[in-house]
Amino acid sequence: MAAQDQALQTIYYATKVLSTETVSKYRHCQQFYETIDHIISACPILAKEQYTKLHDSMCAQLHFNICKETGLQLDKKHWYEHVLQSVETSKGDKVTLLWNQQGQTDRTIPNNKPDIIIRDNEAGTCMLIDAAISGDRNVIKKEAEKILKYKDLTI
Ligand SMILES: [Zn+2]
Repeated sequence: MAAQDQALQTIYYATKVLSTETVSKYRHCQQFYETIDHIISACPILAKEQYTKLHDSMCAQLHFNICKETGLQLDKKHWYEHVLQSVETSKGDKVTLLWNQQGQTDRTIPNNKPDIIIRDNEAGTCMLIDAAISGDRNVIKKEAEKILKYKDLTI
């Protein structure tokens, strides 16, 4: 709750609310206010590497849980040891799980590579998952962006 209320001990909070600091810029970039939103998803310095690592780590956990739910073989006990495979198929070819792979389409589609595709081979359906980590303020915007981005993949 403290994070959602922007009440974590950021420099911005110390400057603007507690008045114990005088400089409220984020120490990594020295450019923007050190707010939770900035640290989580808006810092250009962290964007180069850290956000991708965080995103992929979140996808690994999601992928691990999907494997468990769909009966795919798991080699590791914990999600943080889980190694993402490009393609995994369950026993009897019931479910195929794709990680960071292009979907097969009959025409060229520019945004054709969601993070995870769960293909139910019996029902002939696919569920597309594209993850994003954003601040509370951007959840609806991010969701709309993702839906728009992959709308050409819907039938
Ligand atoms: Zn920054």
